[in-house]
Amino acid sequence: MSIDDALLQRADSKCELCTATEILSTYDVPPISIISLDKSVLVCNTCLDQIENPDNVDANHWRCLNDSMWSATPAVQVMAWRMLNRLKAEGWPNDLLEMLYIEDDVKKWAMSDNTIRSVDEPTVDINGAELIAGDSVTLTKDLYIKGANFTAKRGTLIKGISLTDNSYQIEGNINGTRTVLAGKYLKKA
Ligand SMILES: [Zn+2]
Repeated sequence: MSIDDALLQRADSKCELCTATEILSTYDVPPISIISLDKSVLVCNTCLDQIENPDNVDANHWRCLNDSMWSATPAVQVMAWRMLNRLKAEGWPNDLLEMLYIEDDVKKWAMSDNTIRSVDEPTVDINGAELIAGDSVTLTKDLYIKGANFTAKRGTLIKGISLTDNSYQIEGNINGTRTVLAGKYLKKA
């Protein structure tokens, strides 16, 4: 049985986050070393789009986590934890986070968003405050974004950052462009 078949079976052919049944795909929960069933969740297009594009997030959609966060599947718990953290500013996700039961090793996975970090040093902002995946930051200076050919203004808010394997840099979306940014030009929002 391939991963997809096994995944469809585990998920009962529904989005494991919001139970939608249309247009489902496999999402490999980062960081990925080996693709496996344990590291995958079955998600619908709506969930996938919002997971991958923090700018598109519709907080109300994620009220589905109220139910799905109780899943026994660690990969689903990880996605629930990450999305709730990303949406913390809404208020209600905090209440769910407090109730969310998650094993230590699963929590570690949840916190290691996107890539395996090769450095043990924390990534810090201009004031030395530690940055973690899902944080929001603002730019402390105007930055020209190569590739997208525009200048992001000082004070621009970047939501839902990811850590990179370089402790001096994070990744975030500016105007829909995934951009690598130096911590020293950022301030935790
Ligand atoms: Zn969904």
